[in-house]
Amino acid sequence: MFISFEGIDGSGKSTQARMLAETLRDAGREVVLTREPGGSPGAEEIRRLVLEGDPDRWSAETEILLFTAARRDHLERVIEPALAAGKVVICDRFADSTRMYQGLSRGDLRAVVDQLHALMIGREPDLTVLIDIDPAVGLSRAKGRQGTEERFEDFGVGLQEKMRAGFLSLAEEFAPRFRVIDGAREADAIAADVLRAVQAELQS
Ligand code: C5P
Repeated sequence: MFISFEGIDGSGKSTQARMLAETLRDAGREVVLTREPGGSPGAEEIRRLVLEGDPDRWSAETEILLFTAARRDHLERVIEPALAAGKVVICDRFADSTRMYQGLSRGDLRAVVDQLHALMIGREPDLTVLIDIDPAVGLSRAKGRQGTEERFEDFGVGLQEKMRAGFLSLAEEFAPRFRVIDGAREADAIAADVLRAVQAELQS
């Protein structure tokens, strides 16, 4: 089973992905916890190329190509082999992040993202957990972290609002695989909702 976590920066999705991995491992399942951008050695190199250094180094179109290349490597080397071995794959961000960040943040490039996805990726998670949070809360959490690579905090709440609305409309567009969970609560309460959603999917 392939589960992705999505949400704006500071939504708490990485914490939730870790908590879910731990709970499923405790229940005896084999779990691969991974992340994007990155998740395989080659894709982590691409992550560094894109997220570190001058933010204007790549055009929006080149960035889409780089993220898609990273995802293809991650899929071939990590995700597909783990799924074929019957493991649960939990991925902190996947293609929905590219639909949002590369597809929306620097102009309307969603059609380009979708075409490349169809050509080179073609895989969607079985379940996508969207941790929904007020952008102001997300931003203050993201800013409070040390040594993070958040790219968009300097753009302030405006872009985060756009990303949040975008994620919520993606959840409608891909309704059957999305679960939207209120992220403005204690981590344990959120984790309980996440687990319920995953258990329902595992039993279906
Ligand atoms: O999720 P994580 O904190 O690892 O993401 C690192 C940064 O990269 C974040 O600022 C996120 O918004 C950005 N990002 C991006 N495009 C993606 C995925 C993440 O610009 N497809």
